[in-house]
Amino acid sequence: MTKAEGGKPAQSEFKQDTRVTISGRNPHAHHGYVNTPVYHASTLLYRTAEDFLGRKSQYSYGRRGTPTSEALEKAIQEIEGPACAAVALLPSGLAAISTALLSVLQSGDHVLVNDNAYGPCRKFCDSVLKRYGVSTTYYDPLISAGIAALMQPNTRAVFTEAPGSLTFEMQDIPAIAEVAHKNNALVLMDNTWASPLYFKALEKGVDLSIQSGTKYIGGHSDLMLGTVSANKDAAQRLKDTAYTMGLCVGPDDMNLGLRGLRTLAVRLRQHHQSGLTVARWFEQQPEVLKVLHPALPGAPGHDIWKRDFTGACGLFAIVLKPVPEKAVLAFLNALSLYGMGASWGGFESLAIPYDVTAYRTATKWAPGGPSIRFHIGLEDVGDLIADLERGFAALAAAK
Ligand SMILES: *Cc1c(COP(=O)(O)O)cnc(C)c1O
Repeated sequence: MTKAEGGKPAQSEFKQDTRVTISGRNPHAHHGYVNTPVYHASTLLYRTAEDFLGRKSQYSYGRRGTPTSEALEKAIQEIEGPACAAVALLPSGLAAISTALLSVLQSGDHVLVNDNAYGPCRKFCDSVLKRYGVSTTYYDPLISAGIAALMQPNTRAVFTEAPGSLTFEMQDIPAIAEVAHKNNALVLMDNTWASPLYFKALEKGVDLSIQSGTKYIGGHSDLMLGTVSANKDAAQRLKDTAYTMGLCVGPDDMNLGLRGLRTLAVRLRQHHQSGLTVARWFEQQPEVLKVLHPALPGAPGHDIWKRDFTGACGLFAIVLKPVPEKAVLAFLNALSLYGMGASWGGFESLAIPYDVTAYRTATKWAPGGPSIRFHIGLEDVGDLIADLERGFAALAAAK
């Protein structure tokens, strides 16, 4: 946190929207320019042999950190809040997941992972972690304090994600964290959906909070980035692991992250609002069986969302009443404003059909009809709804 200077308020006294715009910036350290320069750097030179031997420099090597990486780390740390002791920057969200797991686990350990975790996270547990002697048990994401029954003497970490990837179940993070900590295990959370703006993971008992910066930090579908924020119990292990593994992010990508961050609060507010408007509209449509959006009153997980979160992003799903697959495809193909593709968090809307029945091992996914995930972008929400009306007309014609 920036200390109060010359009667000016400390950064922590400002509201979140303000902190997003000022965090990690120090214009007068860079000739007054608003943004931190992009340092393309590997070698760092010392003035004298003595300075080299004494490593007399704030920085030491490109991979180890530059003013650019420091600016992004500091910005994220300040947005996470005072519980955040360190941030690691990784080349993707998946690298953030794997690095966070590797920083708290060793051979012989056991990890508990939510059954609705981001698919490639499961793959990492089932392949790399397994190969290095770490066993994984998947658990029902709605388990809450019942996770106590799954703790083994060697359980060192509990992985969480709320809402869950594709299916949007909400987890009771504080209840899970309490049990985990009592059992000497650390809590990891994939907090990409809410971001630290809408869920203060580290204040709710999470030790390592992961974001795919590819999504809303980038915000423009042109960046791969991952971040892990750690509290004081996990900070050293995180930083050591990321550094030892040689992981770092290119300077232009860090700059895109910093640029995206400055508009994150205002973009997220629009994603939240338009997402809920479209979700409410879906609720009224006769073709829709249910809407999976935790910020929607009455939707699954809404109580936990209301208790712990302060906002929602633009990502949710719907379950259609049973129709033949060709009708679902006709719906999607009739849309002009929704792109079909992986990832999300950009300014543009997306829609993809999905079926996770084959992925689940601890729970059964049987939603009662075909499921579609939507990302509601920054387009005019009336245009977005009119497009969906055309989709439903095509669906009806293809039934
Ligand atoms: C996209 C995504 C990731 C992976 O992020 P990449 O930057 O694509 O590697 C991790 N978790 C969640 C919840 C995601 O949606």
